[in-house]
Amino acid sequence: MSLTASSDLARNARPYLYGGEESAIASALGAGQYNHGPVTELFEQRVAAFLGVPDVVAVASGTAALHVGLLAAGVGPGHEVLVPSFTFCATVQAIVATGARPRFIEVNPGTGCVEPAEVLAALTPHTRAVMPVLYGGRAVDLAPARPVLDEHGVTVVEDAAQAFGSWQGARRVGATGMVTCFSFGPIKNLTCGLGGAIVPRTPLEADICRRLRGLGIVESAAHRAEATTYTVDGFGMRVQMSPLNAAVGLVQLEHFAEAETRRRALWRAYAAALDGVDGVALVDADVERTMPPMFAVSVLNGRRDRVFRMLRDRGIGVGVHYPPNHTQPAFAKWHRPLPVTEQLGQQIMTLPFHQHLTKVDAEHAVGELRRALVGVGR
Ligand SMILES: *Cc1c(COP(=O)(O)O)cnc(C)c1O
Repeated sequence: MSLTASSDLARNARPYLYGGEESAIASALGAGQYNHGPVTELFEQRVAAFLGVPDVVAVASGTAALHVGLLAAGVGPGHEVLVPSFTFCATVQAIVATGARPRFIEVNPGTGCVEPAEVLAALTPHTRAVMPVLYGGRAVDLAPARPVLDEHGVTVVEDAAQAFGSWQGARRVGATGMVTCFSFGPIKNLTCGLGGAIVPRTPLEADICRRLRGLGIVESAAHRAEATTYTVDGFGMRVQMSPLNAAVGLVQLEHFAEAETRRRALWRAYAAALDGVDGVALVDADVERTMPPMFAVSVLNGRRDRVFRMLRDRGIGVGVHYPPNHTQPAFAKWHRPLPVTEQLGQQIMTLPFHQHLTKVDAEHAVGELRRALVGVGR
């Protein structure tokens, strides 16, 4: 019996490369276009085809995707955006970046996701958008709230950073008619190194996203190279996806079926190993439809911090996704009491989850978790 876990288990998350990424970067590097270029456009087309949507706009990160998506949906100063506090801080920072203010709402503790009723109950006259977070890759179906949201002119901008490849009904997340934002960061379901994308609802919205990511310049890069001037039509940032990153994403996308199989199998291996373990509750990822980027449990009875410490000491890369945002100093002025989220923040723990791991690793990690639960006592 080994006393310490394999080094793979020491990492909570870790990118998985298929082998073609380095040469893809080398050829993109050789092509000499680093801000924007045909490789990024090809990546956009391939992602759109994969999702079954007309268009996708690639950007430099998931955070940039959220920021651009919100701006394209017309969110700005004076507006309020409903958002779960239980999310990565990037979600909230993207809202703050638009000049709007977040209004934090509760999540279902069993899924980590917002519920339609909670969204409707939190609406105010200032609400301009709602940003559901697809926690653990799980699709959030706001259909029951849509008629009221539409009536109030409230746009749904999804934070699907963790949900690339997941399904909502018969469609991929991103193909259900909302503004959807993905991350292709290092530990997401598909990685570009760093990167993100927005699925716009209309060609006009796609245009707006492209200007926002490219310094507000109207003309395409190709056109600009031939002309003596260009037009700056409004606010814009420099958050294009570099062709170097797009090259990585293209290789990853080719192997996506393998990623789906391996991630679902690992999730199921964890769930099976945890069957009958007292003192922890699985966060339900709806794995039939979800492409899982993580495996999260609630550690019950006030034992999370001690269990976390023991597992870390044993070399198991547990994590906390996420400490709530409404208690962060930066967001203190938008604090409101959220007891469900506060409790979840004290219970949540993620187990090592990435494509280097196998069923045996999952069983080993759960064995250590069982031992830790015994070790800390009641
Ligand atoms: C990763 C993540 C982001 C940010 O994406 P980046 O690519 O890291 O900028 C935003 N929201 C959630 C829920 C995430 O998991």
